[in-house]
Amino acid sequence: MIIVPEKEIADLIGRDQSFAAVEAVFAAMSRKDAYNFPVIRESIGHADALYGFKSGFDRESLALGLKSGGYWPGNEAKGLTNHQSTVILFDADTGKVKALVGGNLLTALRTAAASAVSIKHLARKDSKVLGMIGAGHQSTFQMRAAVEQRDFEKVIGWNYHPEMLSRLADLAAELNLPFEAVELDQLGAEADVIISITSAFSPSLMNAHVTAGTHIACMGTDTKGKQEVEAALVARATVFTDEIAQSISIGECQHAVADGTKSEADIIELGSVINGDHAGRSSDDEITLFDGTGVGLQDLAVASAAVDLAIEKGVAIEVDF
Ligand code: NAD
Repeated sequence: MIIVPEKEIADLIGRDQSFAAVEAVFAAMSRKDAYNFPVIRESIGHADALYGFKSGFDRESLALGLKSGGYWPGNEAKGLTNHQSTVILFDADTGKVKALVGGNLLTALRTAAASAVSIKHLARKDSKVLGMIGAGHQSTFQMRAAVEQRDFEKVIGWNYHPEMLSRLADLAAELNLPFEAVELDQLGAEADVIISITSAFSPSLMNAHVTAGTHIACMGTDTKGKQEVEAALVARATVFTDEIAQSISIGECQHAVADGTKSEADIIELGSVINGDHAGRSSDDEITLFDGTGVGLQDLAVASAAVDLAIEKGVAIEVDF
């Protein structure tokens, strides 16, 4: 068995490899060559933690395994990231454990890659203003990946806790982009692309905030009950997702589907756009919304890439197991 510790991940895999791995696995999912197993996610009644498993199998790459972990909201005060996860990969031919891979940075990379893939395929080509909602741990990964997809000239941001916005301002400065903290109506009016990455259980971005032609990547809602945008906005947008089953149960679409304003049949897999089976955005006025729920196959894809790179670079730890 190979071990790739968390501390090695940053030197092994970056945004380019993560983007390629996620785009490929979304495409494989849409071809029905890769599938996710039902997600387990439970509130364990200790440390306010949400704990669970995401797993799946990709018949093309033979990535088989699971990511186990979850969300511990008190971790930041202990100097740890709130998300804690580990990926276990198995040999698809024998079922023997193949690798144990630190999953924290990989989670951020694969989540940012997912919204970046959606921007590549769905945002207007002339997008100039990036709007960020959320300034938590994931937000900087999201911004870094997003700005590589279009020639953004400005970043604007809103956060429920405004004192956290300096995190976005600092990164924008590093990326040589002007940054402005704005209210949500200005964010919706100006942004060509909006990324929402919060842990909210009630909507911040409302239908009335958003103007025609915007692409919205809703990345925070990954659990029953969470919600970042008003259901009427989901109903108005053309909705794409990583996986429809997750979108309607734990993703942003759960609310619009429950209130009957969005039909499951109207939700489109992003993979079908990548594969050329769906045209994607149909006009410059259309609002496209990517419901990025986070699938186990994303984790397996980036973990497999990290294992291959660890072997190649001679940093994989081999143990008899
Ligand atoms: P974090 O705890 O570091 O930050 C939380 C963010 O949410 C902050 O910006 C905070 O101000 C904001 N927030 C908190 N309460 C709010 C409220 N009531 N209304 C609006 N905003 C509020 O978390 P993080 O690590 O940045 O993760 C953010 C979210 O992304 C979490 O919900 C997490 O579960 C989710 N996530 C999704 C995926 C995916 O694949 N879709 C992957 C990783 C994380």
